[in-house]
Amino acid sequence: MVSIHPAIDNGFSPARAGFSGGTLKCHCATNPVCVEVSAQTAHNHACGCTKCWKPAGATFAQIAVVGRDNVKVTANGDKLQIVDPSATIQRYACKDCGVHMFGRIENTGHPFYGLDFVHTELSDQDGWSPPEFAAFVSSVIESGVDPSQMPAIRARLRELGLEPYDALSPALMDAIATHVAKQKGLLAA
Ligand SMILES: [Zn+2]
Ligand SMILES: [Zn+2]
Repeated sequence: MVSIHPAIDNGFSPARAGFSGGTLKCHCATNPVCVEVSAQTAHNHACGCTKCWKPAGATFAQIAVVGRDNVKVTANGDKLQIVDPSATIQRYACKDCGVHMFGRIENTGHPFYGLDFVHTELSDQDGWSPPEFAAFVSSVIESGVDPSQMPAIRARLRELGLEPYDALSPALMDAIATHVAKQKGLLAA
């Protein structure tokens, strides 16, 4: 069977009512980077893009968003470095183990400005918002997946309840387009 992601392959629990966050830890056995997330996440999804961090063996990343004010580095922040300073999303990774701890957008005009991107599987807590869909599915080919495997991958995602999209979900694509239309003055802000 196709492996999507270790936190997804065996199914996943629904969000816990009242859940208010937890601590993300990188994979370093000693002096891990710790990031406190002080709110429930939203829009969690499997992502097939080549930029998101994926655990060993995973075909997809699992990534969610949370308000940037709810993300705080609490230990060993000196080990963080930005993977690609020229990218729209500045992904802060641990220099020692390579795990991405959070991604942040600094462009205040970007549709997703104010939201950080996080991998909730880096926390020991249960109750995070579960994945809802799969994004950038065709992009896994760019990571070396054989194109002939795509029907099986899309079928497996659907079986897991994660509708596969080759960009973001329609709701998020609509949110981006709405933001652009407002910036152009075509829609009331
Ligand atoms: Zn680390
Ligand atoms: Zn991605």
